Parts: sequence; C-alpha cells; structure tokens
Amino acid sequence: MRLSRFPLATAKETPADAEVVSHQLMQRAGYIRKLGSGLYTWMPIGLRVLRNIERIVREEMNRAGAVELLMPSIQPAELWQQSGRWTQMGAEMLRMQDRHGNDFCYGPTHEEVIVHHVKQDVRSYKQLPVNYYQVQTKFRDERRPRFGVMRAREFLMKDAYSFDTDEAGLVAAYGRMREAYIRIFDRLGIDYRIVQADAGNIGGNQSEEFHVLAGSGEDLLAVSDSGPYAANVEAAVCAAPGPRVAATRSLTDVATPGQRTCEQVATFLKVPLSGKVKLLVVRTAEGVLRALALRGDHQLNEVKAARHPAIGAGFTLADPDEVATLFGCEVGYLGPVNCPLPVIADHAAAAVADFVCGANRKDFHLQGVNWGRDCPEPETADLRNVVEGDPSPDGVGQIRFYRGIEGGHIFQLGRKYTEAMGLTVLDEQGQALVPWMGCYGIGVSRLAAAIIEQRHDERGMIWPLSVAPFPLIICPIGLDKSEAVKTAAESLYSGLQAAGVDVLIDDRGLRPGGMFADAELVGIPLRVTIGDKALADNQFEFKRRDAADAERIPATVDAVLAQFRG
Ligand code: ATP
Ligand code: MG
Repeated sequence: MRLSRFPLATAKETPADAEVVSHQLMQRAGYIRKLGSGLYTWMPIGLRVLRNIERIVREEMNRAGAVELLMPSIQPAELWQQSGRWTQMGAEMLRMQDRHGNDFCYGPTHEEVIVHHVKQDVRSYKQLPVNYYQVQTKFRDERRPRFGVMRAREFLMKDAYSFDTDEAGLVAAYGRMREAYIRIFDRLGIDYRIVQADAGNIGGNQSEEFHVLAGSGEDLLAVSDSGPYAANVEAAVCAAPGPRVAATRSLTDVATPGQRTCEQVATFLKVPLSGKVKLLVVRTAEGVLRALALRGDHQLNEVKAARHPAIGAGFTLADPDEVATLFGCEVGYLGPVNCPLPVIADHAAAAVADFVCGANRKDFHLQGVNWGRDCPEPETADLRNVVEGDPSPDGVGQIRFYRGIEGGHIFQLGRKYTEAMGLTVLDEQGQALVPWMGCYGIGVSRLAAAIIEQRHDERGMIWPLSVAPFPLIICPIGLDKSEAVKTAAESLYSGLQAAGVDVLIDDRGLRPGGMFADAELVGIPLRVTIGDKALADNQFEFKRRDAADAERIPATVDAVLAQFRG
C-alpha cells in the first residue's frame, strides 16, 4: 500500500475527551472517529487491526471445531419473551417497533436466536454436539459508554454457542473453547489472566473471564500472590476465618453523640475498624426486610448477596426512614442486640468477639458485645468483598488486587435457555432430551483498545506482528531528490509484495521526522529507512518499533525478509 493513496489522518494533540491512553492514541492515530455517544467508525488503518483480531479469532474457533454462521442484529421480541429476558433485560436493551407495531430489539447477545435455530434444525442426538459462532455487531445502551471502543454502545463481538446431549459434553465443549481462548490471547501478544467470574444475568454455573491486565481496567481482580487462585472481586470467595476467640469483656453502653459512621465510631472509641460490626438493612425482591452484619472494615458484595437464597437478585438497600421507624432510631446506630429482624452475618463479622456496634438508640453504641451471649448466634454467609491480604480461599498465598479489562467470557449455561425455550432432541431411545448449552464471548473491538493499553510508549502504539495494520513500512529519505533512493525503495516495495508481505511505503515526500512520527504513532512493527548515505554502503537502516536503536542490514529484499521472519 502506498501512503499517498491511503487516507491517514494523524494528530499531535491529545484529544481532551479521551481519558485512557488507548482512546487517546486511537484518536490521534486516526484509527477511530466518534459518531455519537458510544458509536465509532473504524477508519481504514484501524479497521485493519480489527480485521486481524477477527482473523485470529476465526482461525482458532475453526481449529476448535466451531462453525461460523451470521444471525441478524435485529431480533423479534417473542424469542426474548420465551426465555423470560424481555422483561429482565432493563434499559441496556434497545427496543424498537416495526411499521406493524411488532416489538424488536437490537441484539445485545444471541442466546435466544441460536436456540430458536437449533430448535428448527436439530432433531436428533446424532446432530450433536454442535458449536455455532459468529462475529457480529451488538448494541447495548450502556449506562456509561466511555474509553472509546472499550465500553461502546455498538461494538463487535465474537459469540459462540455450544449444544451437547449431556453435562459431560458441555464440560468438554467448554474446555475446548477455553483452550481456543488461550491460543487467541497468546497470539494477540497480551498479558492476561483467566479468572473465576460471576455469570450475571446470562445465568448458569461455571464461568470464567479472560482479563487483559491494565491499570485502566474497570474490573478488580483478586489474585493469589503464590497460588493459582484468581477471581473477579465480584465473584471472589472469602476464606472462612478461624474459630471465634472467647469473650473477655462484658457488655457496656457508651455515649457516641453524633458518631454515625464506622470510621467515626472507631476513632471516637479508639478501637480498630475491624472490631466494629455494622448492620445493613436490605429489602429483598419479595419485599421482605433483612439485616446483614458486616465487619466495619468490610464492604457488602452485592453479587454474593443477590445469590443468597434469603436475599435474592433485585434486592435494594431499605429506605432509611422505614428502618428508623422499625428500629426506633436512625440508621447510624443500628446493631444486632435486640434487633427486630433476623440477622445474616458475614463469616468475618460472625467471628469477632468483644465487638462494638450500634445500640439501636440514637447517640449510643455498645462495647464488648458477643454473639450468642448478648444477641442470638446469627446465620452466617459469605457476603463481603475480599480485601488485599486476605488468605486465598484455596489456602495458597494471599490475595493481591489487579485491574483488568474483560476481553472474553466463557459460560456453562446448562439447560436454562434450552428448557425455557422448549428445545428438545430425540435420544438413542427416541425419548426427548433437553440439550446442555454453553456460550462464549470475545469483545473483538474492545480487544483492539486493550492491546494498546498494554503495548504503547510515549510515541504511540506498539503492535505485535499478528495484529499490526501493516507489518512493515518503507521510509525513503529524499524520494524526490535521489534517483538511487527511489529505485531502491520501489524495488524493495515490489520485492516484498511479491514475497507476500503486506508492506506500506511512505511515498508522501515528507521529511524523515514526519514519516517516523506517523509510523511510530500508528505502531508499525518494522521500519526500513532508505537513504543515500547507507545506500552508498549497499545498506538499509532497519528498526523494530520496540527496539531502542536502528541497525544496518544489507540492501536486499532477502535481508529484509530474514528480519521479518526472525
Ligand atoms: P462488562 O462487564 O464489561 O459489561 P459483560 O459481562 O457485559 O462485560 P459479556 O456479555 O460477557 O460482557 O460479553 C462478551 C464480551 O463482549 C465481553 O467479555 C467484552 O469483551 C465485550 N463487551 C461487553 N460489553 C461491551 C461494550 N460495551 N463495549 C465493548 N465490548 C464489550
Ligand atoms: Mg456489560
């Protein structure tokens, strides 16, 4: 490709509205252009990267035995009514009507559509297992679109759906996808972690996320410093603490005028935050109030709380006025002694002895409180977020936090969708069998940004050869002045093209500084500079984007190809 014929619009200035480096660089390098909130056009140079990521994803999906199809982005509401998600999905799903008043959505995901098709076409166990995938545009009306294509509203996803006759088949299909994902992430040249995840509103049991490690990542990951344990904090299990130590103090009232928060009370009474037990009152989706006890230094994990059978998805914090009426005091002073609600305590809160808590009386707290003696032994559960320094739940090492960008997510869905939508196939005995399903997503467009978050320097992007928009650029110096440079550049250009290299030549007639700055900003991995001085010695100057210095190589196509392959 000749740069004189390829529209490239680079900029020196960092755009004001771009918060993270990948968004800044993608704008500056002319990879993407914003059309509206969370809506981006991929410009020609950026599209090349997107297509390369897609190609790697397709190659590995095909290698793993998945087969490609393409489903519409607009989906009829009936399918979502069958699965029950038409009402569950909330504002993220963009809904619309056609001219006949029929309801549709712009697909945020495709479980319903694929189950519909498999229901039509797959009749017998002999047609299973099968794994369909597509690379398709999704729309999710995100609450906070940001970071460019990282959290967009319209984005490109690879989604795959496996169907098996039994659970063992699903587990095997999941394993094959996991292996394919490992190959994909390795080929993309990124540092990533596979972590245990929460399945969210997709549902199902086992699920893992592939996270690109980056300080700008929106997800917090809990990773053991010396063992294999790694989980999204949303899903990270807290190791149960050791047995509670014996009570040593007696229960006393203490005046704490105006001290409402745990921090205030701990400072006021000169006790550690971990010696305070706080009470949160929640309203379950069924409308019942529950009291949850947590240690003062711990935070409620809403995902775990939503999984607790007595709390459930859709719970909210109870209205403070209503709580005040029930407890007879304002919410800053709640505690488990004489509590009008049964208490579910986090394991760590249940393990503290001689603790401080609200007295259920304004401006008073209790000290030296002990479960079982001063208030009933609570039901216990894992309700809190892990914190750094917690022991890893598998007993190996301590938890450290990392930030990650979710690049992929794999789920064992089980029979949730197949059952809800009435998909059955005939088994060997001619009996109806409900297939087991898995689903596997990769954020193709998000990954382009995630790779940049990890691979860049102050001058621009640093692509691995596998996804670079062009692997190599020829920068001829003084093209319009030197016949020798022109001849050498053209013959290298046609020689590399003949060898199948997707080479770019900067024939715009810029000065070296301008050519180099653009090549570095857009992240071309290899650069061959051709100038009169080196040519006089029959040499080119060769530089890798990630190396500090350039080197001299013989001025031949073969010498360049050797570098390319090496
Ligand atoms: P997140 O927690 O980041 O919102 P999700 O759990 O909603 O992600 P999935 O439904 O598992 O995501 O979608 C599969 C993949 O699609 C994700 O792993 C992610 O890489 C990508 N993805 C999801 N939402 C977006 C978005 N708004 N913009 C770009 N990519 C996205
Ligand atoms: Mg999401």
